[in-house]
Amino acid sequence: MERRAVEAMGGPLVAEFERLTDIVENGYCMGCGLCTQVVEPGAIEMGFTGNGQIRPRARRALEPGEEARICRVCPGVSVNGPFDGALERPDAVWGDLRRVVSGHAADAALRFRASTGGVMTAINRYLLESARVAFVLQVEPGGADALSSDPVLVREPERLLDGAQSRYGASAPLAAIREALALGERFAVSLKPCDIAGVRNLQREDACARELIVFTQTMFCGTVPSRESSFEFFRRRGVDPRREPPSAFQWRGNGCPGPTVGQTADGQVLEGTYNELWNDNPWTTQYRCKICPDAIGLQADIATGDTWPGGAPVGESEGTNAIIAHTAIGLEVLEACEREGRLVLRAAEPRWLDSVQPHHVRLRRSFAARVEGASLGGLPTPRFEALAAEACAAGLSETELADAFGGSLKRVRAGQGDEADTYDDWVAVGAPQ
Ligand SMILES: Cc1cc2nc3c(=O)[nH]c(=O)nc-3n(C[C@H](O)[C@H](O)[C@H](O)COP(=O)(O)OP(=O)(O)OC[C@H]3O[C@@H](n4cnc5c(N)ncnc54)[C@H](O)[C@@H]3O)c2cc1C
Ligand code: SF4
Ligand code: SF4
Repeated sequence: MERRAVEAMGGPLVAEFERLTDIVENGYCMGCGLCTQVVEPGAIEMGFTGNGQIRPRARRALEPGEEARICRVCPGVSVNGPFDGALERPDAVWGDLRRVVSGHAADAALRFRASTGGVMTAINRYLLESARVAFVLQVEPGGADALSSDPVLVREPERLLDGAQSRYGASAPLAAIREALALGERFAVSLKPCDIAGVRNLQREDACARELIVFTQTMFCGTVPSRESSFEFFRRRGVDPRREPPSAFQWRGNGCPGPTVGQTADGQVLEGTYNELWNDNPWTTQYRCKICPDAIGLQADIATGDTWPGGAPVGESEGTNAIIAHTAIGLEVLEACEREGRLVLRAAEPRWLDSVQPHHVRLRRSFAARVEGASLGGLPTPRFEALAAEACAAGLSETELADAFGGSLKRVRAGQGDEADTYDDWVAVGAPQ
């Protein structure tokens, strides 16, 4: 792996990311698949790594122009937040708060089935039924096994439910963006914050993407863990998921958070809890998630999340989303859904968001210090811009900032972010695992 020249402690450094391998081998890739779409078809393919993440691999030497384009659009290393524009109601942590509400889908069956309160699916349903978009790009179960997710272009409102719920597993949803754009129809994107960052990067480069992608929504996102983390759920119950591939897996949903349910091909049904999933699993959080500058969807038209006080569920609830309309179209769509009785909404204060998402407030305040620590530790420096980094950091004491910086530096020196062995056991998506 090429680690850029690091001067002795106290730097300055700092090389930028220049090639696909810089991104992947330094841990800044989160596997969205967008790089496959900005080069000649087939030049880059996505595959599972030995530790159960999805990463791209070039099938031929990439041209300098291709490498440059990848680094410009890749949301792993290029995130351009909203803070360089005129914000209506700016908040350093949460972005443009044109409207903050709590709420849920009015359809009780959808609310029950969905991840939280069914808001994302209800909005997608509105977009399709009102013909504002021809289809929605989201993910649904598919691919290598029951824990994999495939991007899908959904045209029928009733099919949206197949992709509802949170899928805490690797997927490469933007690997479908060229196919989606080629249809020449207006569409919406309903994916993770980093996927939306990729979409925005593409829109800056590509007039067709600007014209056709007319709505984006996302969830607050703690991480996408490796597939191996979820395999542990089966191993703890005496099932080896590699020998007996699961036939279905639900991380959460059917309640809030709802049970975790795995099924094996021979009909066994294995149950667990959401808290077990997060607390007992060796969650192999991707490195990129630990320094994520925007895991809350600052660039999306609408962003939603859970509303558990303190950030973790105590028992079951009916499911209520925190919802932020960030843009004019986000506000307009939210109000249309409310007016048509699709969403039940209640006013909420910005600081209430802090109380139900404390981990995201911490991450926003500390991301710049973490990135600096990582750069001093030897990783190239990403282009994370217009993210209110200084205003966010002002929310931490000097000691807290030093801890975030020092912790990041120490972790990188101990090898985190080093994914030089990514390709050792890499298997193309779709090939036998
Ligand atoms: C990876 C991940 C991390 C999360 N981390 C947090 C968190 O830190 N804090 C928090 O409050 N909530 C988190 N959530 C849950 C989130 O709160 C809910 O998904 C959100 O509130 C939407 O709920 P809903 O009922 O409106 O969604 P639903 O109506 O069930 O719709 C879910 C939508 O999300 C899409 N989706 C699901 N999984 C993925 C995926 N892996 N990649 C891309 N798109 C996907 C679906 O295709 C669908 O469009 C996370 C969810 C995911 C998928
Ligand atoms: S983050 Fe996305 S665009 Fe960047 S290298 Fe990884 S798969 Fe490619
Ligand atoms: S934490 Fe950030 S990088 Fe990680 S999956 Fe979520 S949005 Fe993407």
